[in-house]
Amino acid sequence: MSEEPIRIAVTGGAGQIAYSLLFRLASGEMLGPDQPISLHILEVPEALHALQGVKMELDDCAFPLLKEIVIGSDPYKIFQGVRYAILVGARPRGPGMERGDLLKENGKIFIGQGKALSEVADRDVKVLVVGNPCNTNALIAMSNAPHLSRKNFFAMTRLDENRAKAQLAQKSKFHVSEIRPMIIWGNHSSTQVPDYFNAKIEGNPVTSVIHDEEWLADTFITNVQKRGAAIIEARGKSSAASAASAAIDTMKSLINPTPAGELYSVALCSDGNPYDIAENLIYSFPCRTNEKGVPEIVKGIPLNNFLKEKMKASEAELIEERELAFKS
Ligand code: NDP
Repeated sequence: MSEEPIRIAVTGGAGQIAYSLLFRLASGEMLGPDQPISLHILEVPEALHALQGVKMELDDCAFPLLKEIVIGSDPYKIFQGVRYAILVGARPRGPGMERGDLLKENGKIFIGQGKALSEVADRDVKVLVVGNPCNTNALIAMSNAPHLSRKNFFAMTRLDENRAKAQLAQKSKFHVSEIRPMIIWGNHSSTQVPDYFNAKIEGNPVTSVIHDEEWLADTFITNVQKRGAAIIEARGKSSAASAASAAIDTMKSLINPTPAGELYSVALCSDGNPYDIAENLIYSFPCRTNEKGVPEIVKGIPLNNFLKEKMKASEAELIEERELAFKS
C-alpha cells in the first residue's frame, strides 16, 4: 500500500448513488483500511451547490483515510492523475425522449469524459461506468480515449449478478454466499442473460437444487431483469445503495486477484472474446483478475442453445445501441 493518497474520481457526485458510494469509498471499503485516498468529484454546474453539501458531510465524518476532496465541473481538472474513475452521472430519459436521443445526449457526456481521462488520468486508470445505458456509455468513453488501454473500460453488471444471487438464495433457502458463480452475459438491460445453467449452490448445479425449471427459465430471469422497477414501486425512488455496493464490489474484483475457482461478471471490451460475440462492444462476460491485477475473460464456459440465443439477442441490442450512438 502506498502512503500517498490514491485518487478516485466519481461523477454525478450530488446524485442518489453517489450519496451512498462516496461515504463507503471514504471509509476505505474499496482500497482497504491502510490506503489513504483522495476523492475527485465531478458534477454539472447546476448541481455543484448540492455537491458542496455532500462535501461538507464528508468533511464532518472525519474519515481518517480521506486526505483530500476536490469538486468541480471540469473533467480535465477532476480527472487529473486519477487511478480509478467511477462514472455514475448520466442524463436520465426525459419525457418524450427516444432511446436514440438518450444515447446521443449521453454520448456527448461520455465523449468529453473519455477525452479528458485520456489526457489527464493515470495511464493505468480503471474506468467503471454505472450511468445508463452503461455498456454503450463505456464504449463511447473508451472510443474517445486513444491514450488509454481499451482493456481498462468496464460497465457494471454486478448489481444484476448480486440480484440473481439474492433471488436464488431466497428460492433455495441457502445463504447468498453459497450461490457462486453467477454469470450475467450481455447488456445491462432487459436483454441481459442471468445464466442459471452454470450457476452453483454450495457447489452443486442450481438445477439439481431447485427442481423447478419453469420458475428458473421464466420467473427468475424476469425477477432479475425487473428488480429495479420493483424497487422503484416499493421505495418510490430508484435503487441507489445496492447500485453503490455493486460498484464497490466490482472495483474490488477488478483490482484484486480473484481467488481460485471464483469468477465475477463485468462488461468489458469484447475484442478477441472466446464466445463468438462481435468485437468493439462492451459486453458482460465471466471474468477473473490475474496475479498482475489484469481482468481477463474466463474461457470454456459451456453454452446451450437457450443461452446462445439469448446472448445473441443481447449482442444485437448492443450493436443497435452502438449504431444509434455513433450515428452523426
Ligand atoms: P442516480 O445517482 O440514482 O443514478 C445515476 C445513474 O446511474 C443513472 O444513469 C442511473 O440509470 C444509473 N444506474 C445504474 N444502475 C442503477 C440502479 N441499480 N439504480 C438506479 N440507477 C442506476 O441518479 P440521480 O439523478 O440521483 O443523480 C445523477 C447525478 O448525475 C445528478 O446529480 C446529475 O447532476 C449528475 N450528472 C453529472 C454529470 C457529470 O458529472 N458530468 C453528467 C450528467 C449528470 P437510470 O437513469 O437508468 O436509473
